[in-house]
Amino acid sequence: VSAVLALTLAACGGEGAGSTSDTSNADPEDLSIGVAMPTETSERWIADGANVESQLEEAGYTVDLQFAGDDIPTQSRQVDQMITDGVDALIIAAIDGTALAPQLEAAAAEGIPVIAYDRLIRDSDNVDFYVTFDNFEVGVAQANALLTGLGLLTADGSEGEAAGPFNIELFAGSLDDNNAFFFFDGAMSVLQPLIDDGTLVVPSGQTKIEQVATLRWSQEAAQTRMETLLTSVYDDGTVLNGVLAPYDGISRGIITALQNGGYGPGLDAARPLPVVTGQDAEIASVKLIADGVQSSTIFKDTRLLAEQAVAAAEAFLEGNEPEPNNTEDYDNGVKIVPSYLLPVETVFADDIQSVLIDSEYYSAAEVEAGQ
Ligand code: BGC
Repeated sequence: VSAVLALTLAACGGEGAGSTSDTSNADPEDLSIGVAMPTETSERWIADGANVESQLEEAGYTVDLQFAGDDIPTQSRQVDQMITDGVDALIIAAIDGTALAPQLEAAAAEGIPVIAYDRLIRDSDNVDFYVTFDNFEVGVAQANALLTGLGLLTADGSEGEAAGPFNIELFAGSLDDNNAFFFFDGAMSVLQPLIDDGTLVVPSGQTKIEQVATLRWSQEAAQTRMETLLTSVYDDGTVLNGVLAPYDGISRGIITALQNGGYGPGLDAARPLPVVTGQDAEIASVKLIADGVQSSTIFKDTRLLAEQAVAAAEAFLEGNEPEPNNTEDYDNGVKIVPSYLLPVETVFADDIQSVLIDSEYYSAAEVEAGQ
């Protein structure tokens, strides 16, 4: 009987197996995976959480999915608890990429593999794999979408009819999120040469990421900054033509400020709504794009990201290594984390049907309703 028990414990990867990390012969039914997501205030993370959870459950695993309300101590506690509860793998989308070092050390001591989900976890050796989108390319795509909206580029990437100069303002994401730098650097790789040659003008003069960042990607903070810009820099009648916005929530905050500030149809004809970019294809923004209010967004298919996260977790739990497609770009300050990068797609009004509805990411009714 005791031999059977020992075998069972070994198969479970339990204490009796001698090592808590050897799960390679275990049945998925006996394994659990902790999934830590940053917040439920943004739709994309709800979708990420749901996709990861359902795909893991389909593969047979037990899932502990937690959202942290964008609060760093809450996320640290949640990950602590998952480790105490004996999860066999962790999938983490960090709020602050540098704040989880003690948790990750504990995970490593228990032999629990850690997969950074979409956001790189920094300053720790104990990150085993990173699944994300091509974040630099997101920024490039946002900048190109801004130029397309302004008429400097055509949709197929050739030179547009417009000549400029155009007045633009720049917004970036949260400085504790490594992605914010990749997005901004990608965008500036396109925009800086045009700022330098005078095609684009930034009337506020704010072109450094520290000057244009938005803590926690907050819609309200973005709205406030845009309002402040309008009542200071633009109060002499200067007309704003475009805004680089890194995320749809930020885009909507900016659009609200612009509308309150006198931009938009039916108001001053000299002030049409500026071209505003975005990211994540949140349904409220997709509706605004369909209605000609927001210009564009960048679609990141969270179903595919979930698939990569699940594949990576499975590989580790089966005693293998997941296959990276990038081993160069994501230095977390301690090591280069092997990564799997997915491509992204730019969405203008004309692309909603083919990119979002045909792929069943949204139904036509959801786009119509904006929810
Ligand atoms: C994600 C973006 C998202 C942003 C705000 C980033 O880490 O990569 O897709 O827009 O966080 O939630």
